[in-house]
Amino acid sequence: MNDCKLTPAPAPLTAKDYRSDLKPVWCAGCGDYAVIAAITRALAELQLPREDVAFVSGIGCSSRIPAYSAVYGFHGVHGRALPLATGLKVARPDLTVLVAGGDGDGFSIGGNHFLHACRRNADVTYIVMDNSVYGMTKGQASPTTAADWTGSVLTPDGPGVPAFRPLEIALAAGASFIARAFSGDPTTLAAQIVAGIRHEGFSLIHVLCPCVTYRPEQQKEFKARVHAEWQPTDDRREAFGRLLDDDGYATGILYRNPRPAYRAPQVAATTLDAIAAGFEVAAA
Ligand code: SF4
Repeated sequence: MNDCKLTPAPAPLTAKDYRSDLKPVWCAGCGDYAVIAAITRALAELQLPREDVAFVSGIGCSSRIPAYSAVYGFHGVHGRALPLATGLKVARPDLTVLVAGGDGDGFSIGGNHFLHACRRNADVTYIVMDNSVYGMTKGQASPTTAADWTGSVLTPDGPGVPAFRPLEIALAAGASFIARAFSGDPTTLAAQIVAGIRHEGFSLIHVLCPCVTYRPEQQKEFKARVHAEWQPTDDRREAFGRLLDDDGYATGILYRNPRPAYRAPQVAATTLDAIAAGFEVAAA
């Protein structure tokens, strides 16, 4: 008789298993709560081992997400999340690398890095919580603020310049996966995050995400105006056409194209001793 005992299979990870025990300091009702719920739901759906996931961010309310997640995290400096994440993915291609941030961090301070992350197409998933305001620094106009928004004393007549259009810029710069979701629909958002992680290449997930403190009108506005619109296309011309008609509230996966992801060239493995020996030979 075989008396060996079978080891029970480990229980599947749940969304809660991907949350740290830190309590978020976000304002009650902030859209970021729904976004972290969607992210952890997506990770649970993919059953990614926590030690195989790294979350990188810059600065801002939404950039606190790595601290609230139970995976590896790196809270970087303002606007520098994407180069950090790209470097991490190049050095550790085995990791799933996620990036979280806001519209100011990503499209203003980090705008240049955004362009080049799209162009390089390293396999990272970038989740941008866009509320068209700098929430953490108390409500200044951001790159995606409408020209006539008069809610800040710093721009009493409005910023006066057209808002940055991140999806058009991403498509022009070479991003291979582009989607938009609404934090008020976390099921669709979680599905887009799953698709973005599965996509090999740079994925932009643009999330309309209200700041209840400095843009309290957004909750009603997003609920009234958001509309499910796009099914994925791999035709760049068609995607540009959709964006020319975009009112800023269309959601769905706009564009998905299997362009090869950036990978670092393979280099021979070496050790510090081998490098030191090389110098000795050169000096002899
Ligand atoms: Fe959220 Fe705005 Fe509060 Fe920041 S200031 S936590 S974005 S509601």
